[in-house]
Amino acid sequence: MPFSALGLSEPLLRALDALGYTTPTPVQLQAIPAALSGRDVLAAAQTGTGKTAAFALPLLKRLTNGSRAKPNHIRALVLVPTRELAIQVAETIAACGTYLPLRTKVVYGGVKINPQMMQLRSGVDILVATPGRLLDLVAHHAVKFLQVEILVLDEADRMLDLGFIDDIGTILGLLPKRRQSLLFSATFPEAIRALAEKLLHKPVQLEVDPPNSPSKHVKQWIYEVDQGKKPELLCQLLRKNDWQQVLVFTRTRIDADRLARKLTDHGISALAMHGDKSQSLRARALADFKANTIRVLVATDIGSRGLDINALSHVINVDLPKVAADYIHRIGRTGRAGLEGAAISLVSADEVNLLSAIETLLGQLLIRDVATGFIPRHSVPLTRLMPARPKKPKKPKQVQAPARSENLQPAGDGSGHRKPRKDEGQGGGRRQQRNSKK
Ligand code: AMP
Repeated sequence: MPFSALGLSEPLLRALDALGYTTPTPVQLQAIPAALSGRDVLAAAQTGTGKTAAFALPLLKRLTNGSRAKPNHIRALVLVPTRELAIQVAETIAACGTYLPLRTKVVYGGVKINPQMMQLRSGVDILVATPGRLLDLVAHHAVKFLQVEILVLDEADRMLDLGFIDDIGTILGLLPKRRQSLLFSATFPEAIRALAEKLLHKPVQLEVDPPNSPSKHVKQWIYEVDQGKKPELLCQLLRKNDWQQVLVFTRTRIDADRLARKLTDHGISALAMHGDKSQSLRARALADFKANTIRVLVATDIGSRGLDINALSHVINVDLPKVAADYIHRIGRTGRAGLEGAAISLVSADEVNLLSAIETLLGQLLIRDVATGFIPRHSVPLTRLMPARPKKPKKPKQVQAPARSENLQPAGDGSGHRKPRKDEGQGGGRRQQRNSKK
């Protein structure tokens, strides 16, 4: 189903087009219509599933109508656990709202509060905030909630882990009772259930399958390679190795067609399989692939949905998927039923963020290699998994208490490892969060 069937407005569809989001992810398919209907939503969804756009789009649509925010007022509040997530969420909202006259601002701890107070003066439509800093701003009378129509709690379980539950309780007590609330969480420990019970009114409940972890029988590694050399490297790998049934993934249909042609030109039998192909062509390609009549099937994520091929030995990602969970779906096609499999990704320097998201979702760094004759001009920057999260927990904060002095922010402990405030997470909160779920 395309985005246009979900009830989104034209400026939002235009922004999605500009972002290159062609098809809604499962959480978007479920959450967008539910939220657009005005109901509260309780969504079980992990990072990497497209959950940010799942709440950003209905939120933006709702705010398109209605009166402007008065000075220091906000119309929508998005609470997130860490500053990294705050920044990313605000960026996604701003990107989805490019063609709408709505103002999005982001506030988090660990930086001076004054500029944030200034930003709030003329009122904002959407405020993305970490709870601690938001309460500081409340104490400074810099933010007022009377106009809040919609509340989003993102990564609620992570907020609980970081000891924000009391802050959230305080904030909820300050919000107008009549509002729409959306709660997103990867897991549902008792405290989150209790919070959901208190916060949500007859919510639409939805769950997207957490990506299965890849089979332990799948060996995974990457080749660092320049983007333009990928087709050549693929040909070399296929020529040098005796891999008989190889499923290759590209991000776009055009690339899939082009690659299948190139392989055929090099004497490697291949067919493309994607959403532009008719059902009968896809069925034929699959049948040929299964019967070993062709050696390589070049597919896009959509084209490969529901593909079931027994005992597939090799998956090669010529491009990394944009949604990290898709990596797990892709490589889940191999290593089935106890058989050995291999998942190889050709990664160029510009894909480092996608690689990092995938590694974080997997909870492991992927082994890197460079193929002979393909030393990249730009190597893929090093990624790292974040250390385990800190044990937090702290006393509830009083809203009326004097604002914290900025001098209290730790600048570092001399170890080179700066200790985060809780509003800050640990630098790369999403990674850390995903690891923490392992
Ligand atoms: P999130 O789970 O919100 O952190 O999103 C994970 C990644 O998926 C982000 O890089 C988004 O830009 C990307 N993304 C979200 N929705 C879509 C979509 N419908 N199509 C393609 N990419 C998407």
